[in-house]
Amino acid sequence: MFSTVNGIINYSQQTIQAARYIGQGFIVTLDHMNRLPMSIQYPYEKLIPSERFRGRIHFEFDKCIACEVCVRVCPINLPVVDWELRKTIKKKQLKSYSIDFGICIFCGNCVEYCPTNCLSMTEEYELSAYDRHELNYDQIALGRLPISVIEDSTIGTLSNLTSLSKKVMEGHSNSRNVTNFSS
Ligand code: SF4
Ligand code: SF4
Repeated sequence: MFSTVNGIINYSQQTIQAARYIGQGFIVTLDHMNRLPMSIQYPYEKLIPSERFRGRIHFEFDKCIACEVCVRVCPINLPVVDWELRKTIKKKQLKSYSIDFGICIFCGNCVEYCPTNCLSMTEEYELSAYDRHELNYDQIALGRLPISVIEDSTIGTLSNLTSLSKKVMEGHSNSRNVTNFSS
């Protein structure tokens, strides 16, 4: 008789405990249902980069005076400036210019210090290639205007960080501090 009562009490306690766990699970589920998704459906959705996003560098050949300031300020002396001296006009003439984006760290120093503003950072961030040598951009590749995310007709739905909840926005910026997405 005593053992039967004990069994019933144990069974009741376990039932209450199980109900409590189920309740806790539901609370977690309800909490997550109240949040907006943190992910976007890339490549069908893309984030619009911020105004000061440091993406692929754009180069204007005609403005370049071959001063090589960009090479000196680059932490890895990356830009390759090939020029010849035109003795008749006593000026350097640019022959070719290239930046290898497989090595570039997108620090923006070259853009910042170029005296003729012939370099600029674009919002282009899709630079993946099967062959790393394809990332070595010459003046023609560097001179190509960037593809704007907004004008890309292949993207069905546009999304940006403002579409995410405030809670997510704060977490994003706090965790990354100064990032490419910060302005
Ligand atoms: S700093 Fe500007 S102007 Fe001078 S070589 Fe570099 S890109 Fe050309
Ligand atoms: S962005 Fe920085 S690493 Fe890249 S070429 Fe310019 S100075 Fe060099």
